Amino acid sequence: MGDGTSRQALKFCKGERFVKTPYLFYTYIMSIQQLLRQIRPAWLHRVSHAMTRGESVRESFQEQLNRFYDLLEHAVVTGDPSWMDTIILDWASAPTQTDLDEKQYNVSALLKKIITLTTEIAREMLSESDALDMLVALMPVYAYILEKAARLEVEARVAYISNQLNEMREKLERLDRSKSNFIAVAAHELKTPLTLIEGYTSMMRDLATSPPGESLDPLLQGIDTGIRRLREIVDDMIDVSLIDNNLLSLNFQPVWLSHLLGLLRSELSESLEARQQTLEIRPFPGSEQLIFADPERLYQALRNILTNAIKYTPDGGRITVDGRTLPGFIEVTITDTGIGIAPEDQPLIFEKFGNLGEVSLHSSGKTKFKGGGPGLGLAIARGIIEAHGGTIWVESEGYDEEKCPGSTFHLLIPARSEPSDSRIAKLFGSETELSSET
Ligand code: ADP
Repeated sequence: MGDGTSRQALKFCKGERFVKTPYLFYTYIMSIQQLLRQIRPAWLHRVSHAMTRGESVRESFQEQLNRFYDLLEHAVVTGDPSWMDTIILDWASAPTQTDLDEKQYNVSALLKKIITLTTEIAREMLSESDALDMLVALMPVYAYILEKAARLEVEARVAYISNQLNEMREKLERLDRSKSNFIAVAAHELKTPLTLIEGYTSMMRDLATSPPGESLDPLLQGIDTGIRRLREIVDDMIDVSLIDNNLLSLNFQPVWLSHLLGLLRSELSESLEARQQTLEIRPFPGSEQLIFADPERLYQALRNILTNAIKYTPDGGRITVDGRTLPGFIEVTITDTGIGIAPEDQPLIFEKFGNLGEVSLHSSGKTKFKGGGPGLGLAIARGIIEAHGGTIWVESEGYDEEKCPGSTFHLLIPARSEPSDSRIAKLFGSETELSSET
């Protein structure tokens, strides 16, 4: 090319009428198509190598580039750039959520690179005038796809941002709901012991004005119980806030799980008896192993799960503690024959104030059947286990108060053989020394 024919033909692109000279137009288009075909193999090689690393990725990208080039030819020959719509749409809708999150994927940038490479290849392989003719013919198509890609990208980003805003709004609504729910439950929880204390105090006042002789002991005991309950609720709230703010500090000491479980059995024996439930603590592998953990916190986590097992299991039910060792961890399982937990609620119950249930059911005694508490127990248990570097999850077929499918809580506790603080390590000696002592 590069002769008068193409020069004249170029006028077509500048808006002059070709109707009178269809032959000229045809010749021009054919020559551009020829030029495009001439550079195609080099273009394919250069673009695919410039934009991909790794053979397998390159192969699939080359397929895409072949498709792009076919459509580009069609667009130039027919003078209709909308041939490119499908591929631009595919490319613009390709980004994954991660691409969008990290703002990595950008079709416009990809197209700009393709345009730059096309210009380079045309200049290298074609005569100056042929290169110019071809690029002039490509220009309207490239302008069209750049504009299209930019529009699609903006649309995708707007959709992504409004999606994120929606998610955020839902989260805030949930938080708001759970907060007002929490205030209702906390107020209810705090009211019961306060009423108890008030009642006993007024009885003491009456006693003070009546003739001496009656013992104050039962009244003082009642007040004591009320105060203890208040303290427990406030302590739970403080623990949750420590966990939330990553301020829960652990005091690593040598621990034997069997020992903690034995202590728990004695603490809970009264409740178990009252509810006619059986607690079986199996001697599982790892239960006698010495690990370094915070015994008080671990005890608290296990107690929260065991009291829940008692609470959500009908009278006469069974609770089994078992476990096993896994590389680097000891897994403890606590299985009950209780009402179970619906699959959709399983992740929610570990959230603070999550799945609180009906306020009217709350504060009906610590281990009474279904007597929900302030909804902090599992959030605290999870916080403690995670602070140790472990995990906690629940398995249950579902919620059914009739069939009682039960639930199994799994606690994966790191089997640390050394305390994290070297001064404590010196104080307690090595693991082998300690194991041999037992
Ligand atoms: P709560 O103070 O309400 O017991 P938790 O954080 O201890 O709060 O537990 C959250 C919720 O998880 C409970 O309200 C209950 O619905 C559910 N849940 C916990 N443990 C069990 C279990 N063993 N069986 C059935 N449901 C349970």
